[in-house]
Amino acid sequence: MANTPYPQSYYAASANAVPPRPVLQGEVETDVCVIGAGYTGLSSALFLLENGFRVTVVEAAKVGFGASGRNGGQIVNSYSRDIDVIERSVGPQQAQLLGEMAFEGGRIIRERVAKYQIQCDLKDGGVFAALNSKHMGHLESQKRLWERYGHTQLELLDERRIRDVVACDNYVGGLLDMSGGHIHPLNLALGEAAAVESLGGTIYEQSAAVRIERGANPVVHTAEGKVRAKFIIVAGNAYLGNLVPELAAKSMPCGTQVITTAPLGDALAKTLLPQDYCLEDCNYLLDYYRLTSDKRLIFGGGVVYGARDPANIEAIIRPKMLKAFPQLKDVKIDYAWTGNFLLTLSRLPQVGRLGDNIYYSQGCSGHGVTYTHLAGKVLAEALRGQAERFDAFADLPHYPFPGGQLLRTPFAAMGAWYYGLRDKLGF
Ligand SMILES: Cc1cc2nc3c(=O)[nH]c(=O)nc-3n(C[C@H](O)[C@H](O)[C@H](O)COP(=O)(O)OP(=O)(O)OC[C@H]3O[C@@H](n4cnc5c(N)ncnc54)[C@H](O)[C@@H]3O)c2cc1C
Repeated sequence: MANTPYPQSYYAASANAVPPRPVLQGEVETDVCVIGAGYTGLSSALFLLENGFRVTVVEAAKVGFGASGRNGGQIVNSYSRDIDVIERSVGPQQAQLLGEMAFEGGRIIRERVAKYQIQCDLKDGGVFAALNSKHMGHLESQKRLWERYGHTQLELLDERRIRDVVACDNYVGGLLDMSGGHIHPLNLALGEAAAVESLGGTIYEQSAAVRIERGANPVVHTAEGKVRAKFIIVAGNAYLGNLVPELAAKSMPCGTQVITTAPLGDALAKTLLPQDYCLEDCNYLLDYYRLTSDKRLIFGGGVVYGARDPANIEAIIRPKMLKAFPQLKDVKIDYAWTGNFLLTLSRLPQVGRLGDNIYYSQGCSGHGVTYTHLAGKVLAEALRGQAERFDAFADLPHYPFPGGQLLRTPFAAMGAWYYGLRDKLGF
């Protein structure tokens, strides 16, 4: 039996201790079988358990093995495409529902952390940083847009104010969201998994779903066992492969890379990000960074279309970090890793149902820490028969990538090249 470990990330090296989890062997019966123990799967499992369902989670590797245990740790509200895009593609009632939900994921994370006492270094405050006046104009209209849906905790930062939150001369201003913030992402997932188990849920690790038997009484098959369930939730996102061909057709796994410096020491760390907020810039191919609790800088950026692992991650990301912070030129990089997120053509999440009893959510296309927590709640509501919010997501239009599975990677890379050029030229 293959035993897939975590990648060698800073998060794996600083993970809270957890008990070993079993491999699924033999037959199990449950109400809901969740495939994948990332935030989507764990959040679904938690809401379902809190509402009296029996839940069994099967995870191909380990809890938080995918993007949920590797990401930048930034609690970024709203979706990867914003509500103005949603307003243009759906009716006002659906846009209203989706707009109202745009900041709910961050609240769910905070409720979970408080309720289950999850030790994940939660900090409040996230900044969107503008590199030029066009970005600043975008942030101003973004603030107005979000306020229309009741999200009023946002503050515009002018060129002087942004210098108070980050020691980088590249920005002309920004937007501060105190309901954003950051976490140790793997420890959040591990804490949520412990909460699932505390409510009587079971999580099997190293137990990939290899086949789903569909029908009135669906069965999830793993190498050594099977789960009979009333409902299945598919939450494998960019790591799902072709288990559910309908889901693979309209999405594309993409890699993005993260580096972590050696500890900087309190004094240097405080000069870089004095308020300890996290930050992402407004480019299409954006850079994002924050401090860890032991005062390292975690810096991410770049996208590899088609999710190939680049040979030298540090060589790709370090120059981006030094562009923001040349003062770190002599600082050693202790960790570098890659992780996959799932891109859709619209960059909006894909949510839906296959037949009567197989539910899914995937493809939040970059910003997923908050959305996935919301998705778990929305999927759980649908299983309880309250599908209004689920339907608002499920009705979003989605299209296959041009060129099909063979050509979708070069096409998406061409699109990204174009947007990358726009970023560089500032238009
Ligand atoms: C490097 C990186 C940085 C990011 N930074 C940020 C950020 O700072 N802020 C933000 O908002 N978003 C960020 N994201 C996106 C965010 O992390 C994801 O959107 C989110 O974690 C997706 O959660 P998920 O549960 O849907 O998928 P995942 O966390 O990928 O979980 C899927 C799980 O399913 C399992 N699985 C797959 N197939 C099977 C199977 N057949 N059987 C059983 N199990 C299976 C996998 O092993 C995996 O554990 C980042 C993503 C990456 C990769």
